[in-house]
This record gives sequence, structure tokens and C-alpha cells, in this order.
Amino acid sequence: MKEVFENEMKLEFISKSSNEAFARITIAAFVSQLDPNIEELADIKTAVSEAVTNCIIHGYENKQGIVKIVSKLKDNEIIIEISDNGKGIENIDIAKEPLYTTKPNLERSGMGFTIMESFMDKIDVESIVGLGTKITMRKTIKSHSENEDEFEIITKD
Ligand code: ATP
Ligand code: MG
Repeated sequence: MKEVFENEMKLEFISKSSNEAFARITIAAFVSQLDPNIEELADIKTAVSEAVTNCIIHGYENKQGIVKIVSKLKDNEIIIEISDNGKGIENIDIAKEPLYTTKPNLERSGMGFTIMESFMDKIDVESIVGLGTKITMRKTIKSHSENEDEFEIITKD
């Protein structure tokens, strides 16, 4: 059965590192509809930064390409798909291992996927060598109902 989403957005931009902040802030603005707390917002922004940086540095290897983001809201969950049409990943399981990097000379620490996995509830990686990579991340905004409770307490007085 097709999933029904309450809201959806798409964003496409050139693979310049100056657009990384743009992507992170745009997703933060979109998810703010679910009333995340500061920690949840910081987690999402960091995960988006890591995925976008990977598209720019590894996917396109700093050559010009298009990074695409599709984000959806469903109940109190945000789903974020970040993709490139770059070089692709040969072995996804190895790439996801902590400290694994193919660019150690660029002072990469190989922690991007580990950070995305720990800050989001779930990440899926699909990649075809020569065609590109798509990362799908999901996170439930748990503070959603807590914030509503706080609001009730404030308005009761
Ligand atoms: P760090 O994120 O700590 O700066 P890193 O980017 O090398 O270092 P990860 O983000 O964990 O570490 O990625 C691990 C490896 O997976 C990369 O070194 C690269 O080989 C590969 N990779 C990740 N994303 C992509 C992508 N979009 N396209 C092609 N290869 C990728
Ligand atoms: Mg990385």
C-alpha cells in the first residue's frame, strides 16, 4: 500500500559546499512544523550535513552535479531522501563501517554514516556504481506530544 504523507517538499541544488548550510537550514525549517526540540533539530541538521557533504565530496568528487533532497512528514515522523547522480558506492556495508573512508588524505574521519545512524532512527543506503547514491533517513519527533502538554500547562494559568 502506498504511504500517505501529510506534507512533502523537494529541493535541488548544485553540489557546492556553500549550499550545505542552505540544505540543512531548509530541512530544519520544514521539520519545525512537527515542533522538534533543540536536540532533535540539531540531530537532523547534522545528519543532513553529513549526507549532503558526502554527495558533494564523494559522489561528485567536487565536480559539478545536482544534489536532490525530498522530505516528507507523516504523523510525527520526518523522512529525508538525499541523492546524487555521482560515482556510487561499491560496497555499502564496508562504507558504513565506523572510521572507513576512501579519502583519508582529505582529513575525512570516516564517521559520516555512523553519525547519521546514531542521530536518526533509521537510515537506508541505495547505490549503483556509476549511477549514484540515495540515502533515506527517518526520525520520529518524540517531543511533539510533550510540547503540546507544556503548551496546555502554560495556557491553563
Ligand atoms: P567523514 O564523513 O567523517 O568526513 P567520510 O565521508 O569518508 O568521512 P562516511 O561519510 O562515513 O565517511 O562515508 C564513508 C565512505 O562511503 C566514504 O569515504 C565514501 O567512500 C563512501 N561514500 C559515502 N557517501 C557517498 C556518496 N554519496 N557517493 C559515493 N561514495 C560515498
Ligand atoms: Mg562523510
